[in-house]
Amino acid sequence: MDKTGDHAIVLGASVGGLLAARAPAESYDAVTVVERDVLPSGAENRRFRDRRATYVPSRPLLEHHVRRRVRAIPNITLLDGHNVGDLTTTPDRRRITGVQVGSREGVRTMTVDLVVDAMGRGARTPAGLEKLGYGRPVEEHVVVHVVYRSQLLRLAPGTPMEKMVLIGAVPGRPAGMALFGYENGTWLFTVAAMAGREPPPSRDGMISAVEAYAPDHVVAALRTAEPLGEVAQHKFPSSQWRHYERMRRFPDGLLVFGDAICSFNPIYGQGMTVAAVEAMSLRDCLRRGEDDLSHRFFRAAKKPIGAAWQLAIGSDLALPEVEGPRSVQTRLGNAYVARVLAAAENDPVVVDRFLRVSSLMDPPGHLMHPALVGRVCIGNLRRHRRTGGAPMAVPSEIGTSLSALRR
Ligand SMILES: Cc1cc2nc3c(=O)[nH]c(=O)nc-3n(C[C@H](O)[C@H](O)[C@H](O)COP(=O)(O)OP(=O)(O)OC[C@H]3O[C@@H](n4cnc5c(N)ncnc54)[C@H](O)[C@@H]3O)c2cc1C
Repeated sequence: MDKTGDHAIVLGASVGGLLAARAPAESYDAVTVVERDVLPSGAENRRFRDRRATYVPSRPLLEHHVRRRVRAIPNITLLDGHNVGDLTTTPDRRRITGVQVGSREGVRTMTVDLVVDAMGRGARTPAGLEKLGYGRPVEEHVVVHVVYRSQLLRLAPGTPMEKMVLIGAVPGRPAGMALFGYENGTWLFTVAAMAGREPPPSRDGMISAVEAYAPDHVVAALRTAEPLGEVAQHKFPSSQWRHYERMRRFPDGLLVFGDAICSFNPIYGQGMTVAAVEAMSLRDCLRRGEDDLSHRFFRAAKKPIGAAWQLAIGSDLALPEVEGPRSVQTRLGNAYVARVLAAAENDPVVVDRFLRVSSLMDPPGHLMHPALVGRVCIGNLRRHRRTGGAPMAVPSEIGTSLSALRR
């Protein structure tokens, strides 16, 4: 394959940066990934400035294996323990030429042909662009004020439990819980609340809070479990989309990636999947050369971001406690998804189609395929006859439905 340049640099070595690094490795002689944290050699939780309190089940293991695969690519270097500073440009500011990188030894400028900013939702590219005279991207926010409290547990020997229990928020109770089976017989217990509510700070308080809506066997298992660490907390103010694809002017030699473009309400677990789809778009864009690269990439990234945004925002706005304008499309979408979930309770084909869309494997439009609409109508008619019209799940209750299906 033709080389696009000598050296590309990816800023940030979380899942976004690691996935992004693979694409320029095909078309640049060398790729350096710079990360301020010191990266663990194994599958350990590492310090995250934004979420050091949070345990994410399987995340350390997943990130460890992605990192291991990236390290195995011969022309990629991971430079951890280095803090990224300002970008450098040509005198006319039309092209980014490198980035300042600091470590204990001091600050140096790395001169490169391409900079990919994957430094997460706090990335400073908007401020950098403003300083260079490009202005900032338009930002869209949906304020959710999610507070997570989590604790790692070991269940008492022999406790029967599903692999995963997820109970979502419902109107009138903007809170839910999760219990994830993790490696080495450990479990992650999380209670999340939205829209100004906060889960109790202690484990006993968290268990009492979920008693009202969690199945009895789950509550009993939580009460007899052995805690393996402190209760940890993470706060997430809003879903945030920086619309780089709408910017009229953008410097050459710079791209933005992953959460630095769009960070989603983590309740729906979409960010890593979107970053993976963006990585494939980046690969395809780089294979077509460097001309108009940023516009082509931002336009391509808009598609998976838009699909995930629609699902996340639609689910958030199904809760009256979350503020924000509900378009007719959102209302109709939520009403239909509630019926899809109702039909999914008894129809594995509907489950399969719904999971493919919610996992971003298929676009949301696939839920409107006439054959599926037919199954949804039949499923809802049968459900109505059976239950006498009992209330349906709301989209944010997806987890409840999935948990029920696994049982
Ligand atoms: C609580 C929580 C739970 C989540 N759960 C899920 C889930 O279940 N499924 C899912 O798909 N997604 C989930 N996500 C989202 C997921 O973590 C992100 O979408 C994914 O990590 C991709 O983000 P990123 O790599 O672009 O940015 P980030 O993960 O934010 O990484 C940014 C990286 O840049 C580094 N960095 C920042 N500033 C500097 C600097 N100045 N110099 C050098 N390095 C710097 C940081 O140390 C970090 O490593 C969750 C997020 C949160 C907060």
